Amino acid sequence: MSPRRASASPDPAESARIGLAGLDAGPIERAFRVEAPGEWLGALPLPFEDVDIEVEVRRADGAAVRARGTLGARAMVECRRCLEPTRVRVRAKWDALYRPPDRVTPGEEGVWALEAGSGELDLAGPIREELWVHAPTWVECSRDCPGLCPACGAGLAEKACRCPPREPDARWAALEGLREDPAGASEGEIP
Ligand SMILES: [Zn+2]
Ligand SMILES: [Zn+2]
Repeated sequence: MSPRRASASPDPAESARIGLAGLDAGPIERAFRVEAPGEWLGALPLPFEDVDIEVEVRRADGAAVRARGTLGARAMVECRRCLEPTRVRVRAKWDALYRPPDRVTPGEEGVWALEAGSGELDLAGPIREELWVHAPTWVECSRDCPGLCPACGAGLAEKACRCPPREPDARWAALEGLREDPAGASEGEIP
């Protein structure tokens, strides 16, 4: 008996290629986890750590094969405001149609090429696309993250810093003008 979880595979590229030999007997179902998706899929929008894939493959019209299922992924990313490590989760349903190459129109969404006589389906294309589509571009640790103080860089979620308030306010702008006035008293000038 192997202690390895049934869903984990040492070679993600291999688990994501679904053999089609049994397809005429009915749908093929698989569930597996890819622990290092970057090695499998190349450049991804976030440093995803685990990708869980469930897929059901069945025959479609003509020589087409349909694969659909769910996708779950997670990544640790810096909050755009306070730079704290923030867990990102992606969950999606996906649906891909594989057709012979001569029946694939470039730019057609969700359609992938399957060479005639190919004994297996490669899920890399649709999974890569789903990760790009669903990865958030703006990651925040919370909706009201106060971010960092622009003056001292302190994380304002932890505690308020002692910097004076910096508000884009006309009155403050007027004070700034006074301070920069060479005729006015400036710091360090001792009469
Ligand atoms: Zn934050
Ligand atoms: Zn501060």
